[in-house]
Amino acid sequence: MIIWGSKGKETVVGRGNFYCPQCQNQRHYIHKEMGKYFTLYFIPLFRTSMLGEFIECQTCFTPFEKAVLNYENSVAKNAKKLIDVIQDEIESGIPLQVTFKSLLDSGVSKDAANTAISMATKGQMKICKSCEAVFTASLNFCSLCGKSLEYTK
Ligand SMILES: [Zn+2]
Ligand SMILES: [Zn+2]
Repeated sequence: MIIWGSKGKETVVGRGNFYCPQCQNQRHYIHKEMGKYFTLYFIPLFRTSMLGEFIECQTCFTPFEKAVLNYENSVAKNAKKLIDVIQDEIESGIPLQVTFKSLLDSGVSKDAANTAISMATKGQMKICKSCEAVFTASLNFCSLCGKSLEYTK
């Protein structure tokens, strides 16, 4: 996955089937734990939620919070709608930090907001070195200052 800074040491702690919100279908998953050398790229959005353990869909390889295992199908479908809305918003040039904040303000939990943004960007992000705003990778220029964006890796 692109969002991981280094592969680190992964330990498989479980396997099973779950409803993958990305695939919108029942999929096989692997529950993994990261070793202590695991590091992230500089992405403040993911610092709290993505450390430690995660659930990886074995079809689309999207990492999810452990809580994804408790999602009902209907909840996952609503999540998919939310992600479409987020995608439109971030592709129009809204920095990810702003979208993240507005999700929290509308009552979405931090974990859910992180998961939603990582799905909306597919883990591909760019940063403006001048104002530190992070954008989805389909954008080439910072909407705040007009400078060109660089991939977060
Ligand atoms: Zn999947
Ligand atoms: Zn900028």
